[in-house]
Parts: sequence; C-alpha cells; structure tokens
Amino acid sequence: MNGDTLIRVEKLQKHYNGGVIKALDGINTEIKKGEVVVVIGPSGSGKSTFLRCLNLLEVPTGGNIFFEGVDITDEKVNINIHRQKMGMVFQHFNLFPHMTILKNMIIAPMKLRKKSEAEATELAMKLLRRVGLEDRANAYPSQLSGGQKQRIAIAGVLAMKPDCIVLDEPTAMLDPVGRKEVMETIERLNREEGITIILITHYMDEAVRGDRVYVIDDGHLVMQGHPKEIFAQVETLKGYGLDVPQVTETAYLLRKEGIDLPGDILTIEEMVGALCQLKSAI
Ligand code: ADP
Repeated sequence: MNGDTLIRVEKLQKHYNGGVIKALDGINTEIKKGEVVVVIGPSGSGKSTFLRCLNLLEVPTGGNIFFEGVDITDEKVNINIHRQKMGMVFQHFNLFPHMTILKNMIIAPMKLRKKSEAEATELAMKLLRRVGLEDRANAYPSQLSGGQKQRIAIAGVLAMKPDCIVLDEPTAMLDPVGRKEVMETIERLNREEGITIILITHYMDEAVRGDRVYVIDDGHLVMQGHPKEIFAQVETLKGYGLDVPQVTETAYLLRKEGIDLPGDILTIEEMVGALCQLKSAI
C-alpha cells in the first residue's frame, strides 16, 4: 500500500424500481492503491451492487466514482479504458469444456486482438505462471479443481494488466482447499505485484485477512476498518446478522465468563498466545 487513493466513492446510490429498492443509498469511501478490502454483509445488503457499480456494470442512479482521479460516472469518460484497469472475477467461471486450458486462454487474444498463436501462447503461459498453474496448461477444464478454475479466471483477468481486481464471492462454490489456494493466489498478486483487491466473501476467516473490512447493511456502508477493529465489535456484527470467526467468538464467550482475553483475537495463533500469557500470569 502506498497511501495514494485509487478509488473514491461519493454519495454512491443505486435505486431500482423508481426508488422502491434502495440497493445502495449513499456510500462514501476511499480505497488506497495496494489495499485489500474485504466486503461483508447479509444477503441482499448491496455488496454485489457496490462492486458492479465500481465497474459500471451497473450504472449508479446517484453519486460519483473517481478512479485514479477520473470521475467515471461522467458520460464523457471512455468506460472501456477504465474497465481494463479493473478486472472482475465472479463466483462462476465458464471454460470451453472441449478445449485445453491453454486453448481456452489463447482463443480470445487470437480472434479479438489478432495475436499470432505463438504470441498468444507465450502470454497465456506467463499468465498461468503468475497464478501457479503453468503445469496445467494442457489439462481440460474437467480435470481441474474448482480452486484451479478460479485461478484460471484470475489469470484471464490479469491479461488486461489491471491495477485492481474486484472479486464477487470467488470462493463461494469451493471446498476449503480450493478456498485457501484462491485466497493465497489473490494475496500473492497483491503482495508481489501491488494489485489492489476488493473482494466479497461470506467467510469470516477470509475477511480477517484483509487490510480493511467493509460492512454493508441495507445499502449503507455501516462499518469500515481494520479487521481487528471490526471483529472486536462482536455484538454489533451479530446485530447485522453476521458471524465472527469461530476463534473470535470463543474468545468473546470466554471474556463474558470473566476470562481476561484481548477483544481482538482473530486467529488460532493469537488465541494460543493469549492463553499462554494467561497461564504464565497464574
Ligand atoms: P448482496 O450482494 O449483498 O446479496 P445485491 O447487491 O445483490 O446484494 O442486492 C441488493 C438489493 O438490490 C437486493 O434487495 C436485491 O434484490 C436488489 N437488486 C439487485 N439487483 C436488482 C435488479 N436488477 N433489479 C431490482 N432489484 C435488484
């Protein structure tokens, strides 16, 4: 993170049905370059709409979005240039089942951007390397795990050289191993290449890994802060119908029983450390 603002959102509003449904109702925030922002909130609270507005897949009904200082809600702005800088990854990702991964990846550059097969192959192999899947280039989609398929989706997005990747529940359909490998891939791209990440998840153990957590409820950004600040507020989160990581919940219940544990335990390691300190104090 270098402290420069990547995205600024002012009074962002998305209403449907003439204002009957207020999917987003006045969101104000700033996302810094290189940040990992994790968006949580109950179902139907506006998380997807927020992400889709950032990319103008949904046109806001009010407010402004500045990307690298440019107001992308201004009709005069060429949104396609902006979209290239912000890759989007969804829950589902479709590959052509009868083609190898490599073939799937070179078809668009060859057909749409008129790249030669050699050029497109070289680029695809570089992209596969960045998500750690170069050894799967000749496999067919059915031979890949869900996590690997999502990493291919991320590789596809990297082709646009995005400054930012926006992911709408990329791990929702995956088993724990797949979730872990997708999160590790995302985090490595952030750490090693400085790519800004904005990610929706329902998994609180993923949310604690962000630099900042956004809580969206009923179209409003009701909480934003470091995971330690957010998850220390167990009661407030529960009020929004959200869980906290299991270990945070355990610490919270133990604290209620009078056991003197810190209020911001997010990982098993932190819990073990805190319990050992208690033990040595006895
Ligand atoms: P989340 O991602 O948090 O589950 P969404 O952003 O998908 O929530 O939806 C927020 C609200 O906007 C919900 O009430 C949803 O039903 C409504 N909504 C989303 N898309 C549309 C649409 N195209 N037309 C009407 N209402 C919509």
